[in-house]
Amino acid sequence: MRTGIFYYYQKGERLRDFPPALEGILEKENVFFYDAFYPSKPPSTFEVEAISFEMLYQVHSHELVEEVIQTGNFEGALFSATGTVRAAEKIWLEEIDNAFVFTGYGDHHAGTIFFGGGCYFNGAAIAIGMLRKRFGVKKFAILDTDAHHGDGTWEIFEEDPDVLYVCVCPEPYWEKNNKVNIQVPHRVMDEEYLAIVRNEFPRVRTFQPEILFWNWGYDGTRGDYGDMGLTPDFHILLAKELKGMANRISRGRFIIVLCGGSKRDLATYLIPKLIDVISGK
Ligand SMILES: [Zn+2]
Ligand SMILES: [Zn+2]
Repeated sequence: MRTGIFYYYQKGERLRDFPPALEGILEKENVFFYDAFYPSKPPSTFEVEAISFEMLYQVHSHELVEEVIQTGNFEGALFSATGTVRAAEKIWLEEIDNAFVFTGYGDHHAGTIFFGGGCYFNGAAIAIGMLRKRFGVKKFAILDTDAHHGDGTWEIFEEDPDVLYVCVCPEPYWEKNNKVNIQVPHRVMDEEYLAIVRNEFPRVRTFQPEILFWNWGYDGTRGDYGDMGLTPDFHILLAKELKGMANRISRGRFIIVLCGGSKRDLATYLIPKLIDVISGK
């Protein structure tokens, strides 16, 4: 498996140890590091070109894009979504098989005309639009294990049966057009949560997606802002299961998109381990 890491330079605390914390991983022969050119950073590398406004407008309204510009976080939002889109593109161009995308602002609360909760653009949704238009890809699955409900992703794909969205969160069970909300308790043990996700594997298998996106938030880890009682190592176990599932159902095409979570020590501990899992030891 060839793994792409999509990275851009950003403000904030949680990813401050990166990219140095990827030492030992970047040296692996099957790992490729895609660094974003970023207007506020000297153009030493020029690997990841920002996505166009046209691509943003395939998912988001012109008004939403304008509002994001007004927040002053447009650049970070744009490159967060860009990483996911370029990861999907490079998977279809067969440069890589799977990917980890660093984001400053993650996806799932960004809808067609609204944004919130630290999400401005929905990178997975934009990537799906690109894969449809450019490569004729038909079926997609998104698994969301952030501690909060992915209202943006749900809204964007609500009427679209070709996108299977499985959102695991404390909100009640609800199902519509291959959008499924799977309820987990507010306090949950690792094994219990893993069993809940495993229980959805047959659904994903039956659907036969050509690619699996994982909206991975670690905010439900003990001590973080969405604390559900999960241990840090829960995420590594889940990553192993999902990688195995992607290998079986979507030819290994698998993109991890960083969503919620604020703690720097958790990011520094978990992200290298997750990349290790998807790239193989
Ligand atoms: Zn969250
Ligand atoms: Zn949900």
